[in-house]
Amino acid sequence: MAKQDYYEILGVNKDATKAEIKKAYRKLALKYHPDKNPDKSAEEKFKEISEAYAVLYDDEKRRLYDQYGHAGIDHRYSYEDIFRGADFGDIFRGMGIDFDFGFNDIFERFFGHRMDFNRRGPRRSRGIDLRYDIEISLEDAYNGLKTEINVPRTETCESCQGSGAKPGTNPKTCTECNGTGQSRQSRRTAFGVFTQISTCPKCRGEGTIIKDYCPQCNGKGKIQKTRNIELKIPKGVDDGSQLRLSGEGEAGSFGGNSGDLYIVIHLKRHPKYNRSGSNLHMIKEISFPEAALGGKIDIETIDGSIGSLKIPEGTQNGDILKIRNKGMPELHNRGFGDLYVEIQIITPKKLNRKIRKLLEELKKELKEG
Ligand SMILES: [Zn+2]
Ligand SMILES: [Zn+2]
Repeated sequence: MAKQDYYEILGVNKDATKAEIKKAYRKLALKYHPDKNPDKSAEEKFKEISEAYAVLYDDEKRRLYDQYGHAGIDHRYSYEDIFRGADFGDIFRGMGIDFDFGFNDIFERFFGHRMDFNRRGPRRSRGIDLRYDIEISLEDAYNGLKTEINVPRTETCESCQGSGAKPGTNPKTCTECNGTGQSRQSRRTAFGVFTQISTCPKCRGEGTIIKDYCPQCNGKGKIQKTRNIELKIPKGVDDGSQLRLSGEGEAGSFGGNSGDLYIVIHLKRHPKYNRSGSNLHMIKEISFPEAALGGKIDIETIDGSIGSLKIPEGTQNGDILKIRNKGMPELHNRGFGDLYVEIQIITPKKLNRKIRKLLEELKKELKEG
């Protein structure tokens, strides 16, 4: 079953503010919280709205979700990580539901294990996907194109392998948070113990402290580089076609995979041909006698060669003639489209004496015939 849209689950607009998201979740949580609603299906619903809230209330997660949908979240976060960092304590405060006992118990009930707030070590995360827009000519789309592009991106620092520590040294476990990357503050109130979990200020959530920074990357573990990447654009691409270069996006953190690089193709307008799918359309001007008498004319085709087009006797202005297989190649070598030639009959503008005489004769002849 397809996963439901997070905004729909919470019943908020795509541009809802954080306050609106929180309000919507709070309202639904009051209705579906298992402590409030003994119905079995309420648990499912509560799980769903909690997930939607955890994503939409977090700026980074929401950005990923807006850009890539569920895939953007599911690729980067484990189910647990979706909930990590979400401030449910604030939500349940004043609802008569205790967060520390309440939420973790619920979590255990729903997910089969307690939330691992004490997991040690830095968080591994996948790198961000990048997008690169490239404009090419219709001829390049016809022939396929090999080119090189320069992509600015972050890469794992080779000197420290991404640890950020000076080569030969190791990051030390943060003493403030014991490597969890989170600090917990408990408060006892009339409703029970509330525990607020926030990012450890000393290690900024990484769980480790670096004493001697890697001089190459200043301890970031990543460096900004402009990478020259060879790009092969296949024959037949169209405006809006996308190519995915796996692993060519931004570097991941702490051993996480790199993101992907998406190449988005844009086609320049061609002065002669209009494209529609794999077919091409063009306009060809011919003279009235050529149209009336019929015959063969030369047509330049997209492959650079000259094709021969048979004009039938009595061709009318606006007639469309077809040259088979002279359109664009289909992707994956599935043949070619056709070239459609729209005939435009040109009336002579400057008449010399001879042409005038011939036309007057023709006019007379047409009238009588
Ligand atoms: Zn480094
Ligand atoms: Zn710490």
